[in-house]
Amino acid sequence: MRIILIGPPGAGKGTQCQRLVEHLAVPHLSTGEMLRKAIREETAEGLLAKGFVDHGQLVPDELIVGMVRKRLQEPDCRRGCLLDGFPRTLPQAEILDDMLERQAMTVDGVIELAVPRDELIRRMTMRKRDDDDPAVFARRIKSFEVQTAPLLEYYQRQGKLESIDGLGGTDDITARVMEAVRRFELRAARRQSSRL
Ligand code: ADP
Repeated sequence: MRIILIGPPGAGKGTQCQRLVEHLAVPHLSTGEMLRKAIREETAEGLLAKGFVDHGQLVPDELIVGMVRKRLQEPDCRRGCLLDGFPRTLPQAEILDDMLERQAMTVDGVIELAVPRDELIRRMTMRKRDDDDPAVFARRIKSFEVQTAPLLEYYQRQGKLESIDGLGGTDDITARVMEAVRRFELRAARRQSSRL
């Protein structure tokens, strides 16, 4: 299974991703984590990314696409993966589709974790991360609304989107996520059998 989880900053993607990778037994590809690690280790990519990340702006598509491309080529991704934080722009989504198609692979499903803006801000004040400064956080929400929200329509048109309510207890949300995954699994099985 190749699944993408999309949600605004503070939607609770981290927690749901952890649970989902256990269930799917595939690697968790978090581009936010990949970038924070590169910045910590001061790699060439990290040095390039730092200014953008610190200001709550997206890093250039080429930079993140290069990192993801390398990661997807590692053998553990052959069985599938959970993409978290990528793609985040339409060009990234198109490049990803192209990358997968060349390897006869596809995105099996996209889950949107929908959380209203007020709730995101309330949650942000309760956690602490370097890029969680209120002004930076507001910029990350804005960048989600402007650059990432159009992806929902892109995947909707492909018939791959499941939007779920990100409000409520974490276990309830996990149950909704798992239902979406089961629908993806059914669809993938149907695709498989129609190919036979
Ligand atoms: P959140 O979803 O909470 O905003 P992430 O951990 O996913 O946080 O990402 C942190 C930061 O890393 C983003 O604000 C952005 O600067 C950068 N980043 C992560 N993924 C991407 C991506 N796919 N494209 C561009 N920038 C990215």
